[in-house]
Order: sequence, then structure tokens, then C-alpha cells
Amino acid sequence: MGGNEQNYVQEAFDTNWIAPLGPNVNAFEESIQDYLGNSMKVAALSSGTAAIHLALELLGVTYGDDVICQTFTFSASANPITYLGARPIFVDSEPETWNISPTLMEQAIKDCLEIGKKPKAIIAVHLYGMPYKVDEINAIAAKYNIPVVEDSAEALGSTYKNRPCSTFGRIGILSFNGNKIITTSGGGALVTKDEDIKTKAVFLATQARDNAPHYEHSHIGYNYRMSNVLAGIGRGQMEVINDRVNRRRFNYEYYKTKLSSLSQIEFLEEPNGLKSNRWLSCVLLPSYDIREKIRLALLEEDIESRPLWKPMHLQPVFINCKNYVDGTSEDLFQRGLCLPSGSNLQKGDLDRVIEIIFKVLTK
Ligand SMILES: *Cc1c(COP(=O)(O)O)cnc(C)c1O
Repeated sequence: MGGNEQNYVQEAFDTNWIAPLGPNVNAFEESIQDYLGNSMKVAALSSGTAAIHLALELLGVTYGDDVICQTFTFSASANPITYLGARPIFVDSEPETWNISPTLMEQAIKDCLEIGKKPKAIIAVHLYGMPYKVDEINAIAAKYNIPVVEDSAEALGSTYKNRPCSTFGRIGILSFNGNKIITTSGGGALVTKDEDIKTKAVFLATQARDNAPHYEHSHIGYNYRMSNVLAGIGRGQMEVINDRVNRRRFNYEYYKTKLSSLSQIEFLEEPNGLKSNRWLSCVLLPSYDIREKIRLALLEEDIESRPLWKPMHLQPVFINCKNYVDGTSEDLFQRGLCLPSGSNLQKGDLDRVIEIIFKVLTK
């Protein structure tokens, strides 16, 4: 926590706004809008997953539709497709950003059009905070007139050509889950330029109650609004977002500098014009075996590290879905490791990790 969170939570208690609406929700939304600029409208929700679910519904995704989704991601990017009875088509990553490959994505779209069924939406992800190739993806999406849901759950504070992530898709989404760069313990947001989309998102998120003195419903609704208590935490967290990004980026730079003499370690560099919040510091090792040696050596010292996300097309639950893969994400999954990346790590903590990696790789 940054410092002011408890004051805002106390304010919710003092004013008795213990509800999924209230001054903290409005102020939290405004602080994100100010941070993102570009006249974005933000709807604070109960989770990033809820935001993706509402985004797809607002784009008209329904039973039997196809939705293109980056395969190299966390399952919450893809799960909401199935909540709507639609089907994911998974697309592999390109090696420069580890995110959705424009070439494979266009191939998937062309094949869909060939059988007369245009995908209803594209879910692209700024994974680990590294922006995807926004210009290329948006150009293809525009060419075929398919809306993009910009999964920025891991990318608050990242920029593409100096403009913040979550402002590039038809709808962007953010997450404030406990593990993200800032947190409300659980929470998310839908981001859009379109006031009408925000209004509809809030309507659906609050049980789709029509304008009447009694409870009247002409839509199926959800209970997806953020609580005013948790939004108080969010207000405090937005005051320290820049510090959090700086600390995460420091972790990455420190690892990279100190490990630079080890030729077996590869880092994901920022391509020109892309700035990652470095939510997690990730590295690639020469093989699965060496990756595991390092992971287990760290574990031996009670230090947690994790393999990169297992691609969705390899997940038992999605094994029968269509996919366009060329081995990129499977290779990343085999050889990749997320190093300890918390915003509160001290140099001494990072040095312990570095020392263990040195021991394994120079043995
Ligand atoms: C965390 C995450 C989500 C889901 O956000 P929640 O707030 O945990 O529901 C979606 N996509 C990605 C890439 C994530 O990392």
C-alpha cells in the first residue's frame, strides 16, 4: 500500500457509503481517466474478468460466435468468451513483444471469412506489461472491421508511442487484482472513448435495472460494479502508480545489468517506441532443463519464481478450440521464467536471486 488508502476507506465508513457506488468509485474512475488522458471514460468493476465479459457482450458477442484471442496469456483473457457461448480461436505470438502475431491473426481472419463467418472480436493482450504491436493489429482490425478488446490487465503504466495502454482498443480493460501493479485487492475497469459504452457497461454491471420506480428488467444484468470501500484503496493506489512503475522497471534493469555477463540468459528488450511497466521481470533460458534448475534452486532458498503463462491452446479446457500457432508461445512456455518482481523488493533481495542464478549457470 502507498499510504493514503486507509484514509479513503475510512471516508467510506465515516460517510456510510458501504455500497457498490459512492464518492470513492467516482473519484477512483476520475483518477484513472486523468492518468490515461485522451478523453477516456472509465467504469470501475469488480474484476478484470468482469470487464472482459461486459466488453464482449457490448460488442455483440453471442452464442455460436467466433472470437480471436491471443493464446499466450492468462486464462481470464479467454474464459469470458465461453461465458457468452462463443468460441475462442487462439492465435500465437510474435517474438519481438511476445504478443499476438499480426501475420497469424490475419491468416485466422481470412480463413474465417472464407467459410463465411467473420470473427466478432479480437482480444489482444499486453502481456507482462509489454505492449503488443498496436499499429499493426489495429490496421488489420480496421481492414476487416473487427473490434479489438485491449486486455491491459498487466499493463497499467505501459505506453505505446507515448500513449497509455488501454486507450487503443474499441474497449480496454484493466485489473486491480492483488497481484497486479496496483490493487484494490480485487477489482477491474472497462476503458472506452465512447460515453455510451460506459453508460451501458455500468447499466449491465448493476443488474440492468430499467428506468422505473419499481424493479423493471428488459436485459439480463450482472453484479459487477466495484465497491465504494475497495475504490478507496484504488484512490490511494493511483497516487503511487508512477512510483510502482519505476520500481518494477528498476527490478528489470537491475537484473539485466547484473546478469548481462551470462550469455545463456535472454531478456525481452523494448522495441522502439514501446515502454513496458515491467510488471514482471521475465527471462528466457537455453532449455527447459536449465529453466527448471534455476526455478528449483530458487525454491530451495524459499524464493518463488514461475514459468511463463502456459498458452491457452495447450490448456485441457481449450484443447478442442481452433488455433493458429507456429511454436513461439510453446517455446516461451518451455524456456521462460518470471523472476521475483514485487514493487517492495530491495537491492539485497534482487542480489540473492542473482547470486543463485549465477551459481546454477556457472557451475
Ligand atoms: C489478471 C488478468 C486478467 C483478469 O483480471 P482479474 O481482475 O484477476 O479478473 C485478465 N487478463 C490478464 C492478462 C490478466 O493478467
